[in-house]
Amino acid sequence: MKKVVAGIDIGGTNTLFAWVGESGEILWSSSISTTAFTNVEALVSEVCNQLKCNLPGEPLGLGVGAPSANFYTGCIEHAPNLNWGDIVPLQQYFEDEMHLPTIVANDANAAAIGEHVYGVAKGMKDFIMVTLGTGLGSGFVANGELIYGHDGFAGELGHTIIEPNGRYCGCGRKGCLETYASATGMEQTAFEMRGEKFSSKEVAEIAVLGEKWALEVFDFTAKKLGLALANSVAITRPEAIILFGGLAKSKELLFVPTKKYMEENLLHNFQDKIPLLTSALPESDAAILGASALIWKTQL
Ligand SMILES: [Zn+2]
Repeated sequence: MKKVVAGIDIGGTNTLFAWVGESGEILWSSSISTTAFTNVEALVSEVCNQLKCNLPGEPLGLGVGAPSANFYTGCIEHAPNLNWGDIVPLQQYFEDEMHLPTIVANDANAAAIGEHVYGVAKGMKDFIMVTLGTGLGSGFVANGELIYGHDGFAGELGHTIIEPNGRYCGCGRKGCLETYASATGMEQTAFEMRGEKFSSKEVAEIAVLGEKWALEVFDFTAKKLGLALANSVAITRPEAIILFGGLAKSKELLFVPTKKYMEENLLHNFQDKIPLLTSALPESDAAILGASALIWKTQL
């Protein structure tokens, strides 16, 4: 019988879940609205019922990616966008329903493991994954292992301070990288330059036409991101850095200047040695693939 694992991605808006085969093939998938459930146990129960009814092989376990989820404790801890209380014992809920080994990790860390198991980082022992979305998430793999740190929350590149006394961040401090290098950060930059609101998608569309101010928004974003990446390289010396997410797709607009600023700021013996890559995983499936990879990685 074919061995399968479940990949579950709990987002602020939707929860996606699937049965996934060993080479990352999605055998069955579904999604439900996260916000439709005020009670997390009811959400877990619905996900598990659907998974049980559509099991395509012999299940090995469940991987779950969720914001602010802690690999060590199996809990979602103080997630700002989910209204389920301070500590949610997610791993326990899934194990009680499915009676299968369950691994929980934060969404950016799950994305890094997905890239490691199925994507462009296959075979790499050292790389940095940066997910550019509403915020900036990251996962650091060093010596072949994801760095979870002492309490499970290592790898918060988005909350390194890149501008002392800079923009207010959702974490309560000022000047975090995420407030500059993310869709929200770019929108803030555009607003500061133009005095009116643009979405990051609109800024990209205008920049493609060669409009100077929109290109400057990208250049400013890339300057902050490139500097932060250069600093990260000095700590873990990755073989490559992988950018993922909507913003990462605007290849010439963001990639080229980010690479330039990273190179300018790199320690000399690291220069021209660290490629910036885009994710090899389809964006729509990357989160559930990343979650399922949490289990496949234990089988390697
Ligand atoms: Zn912050």
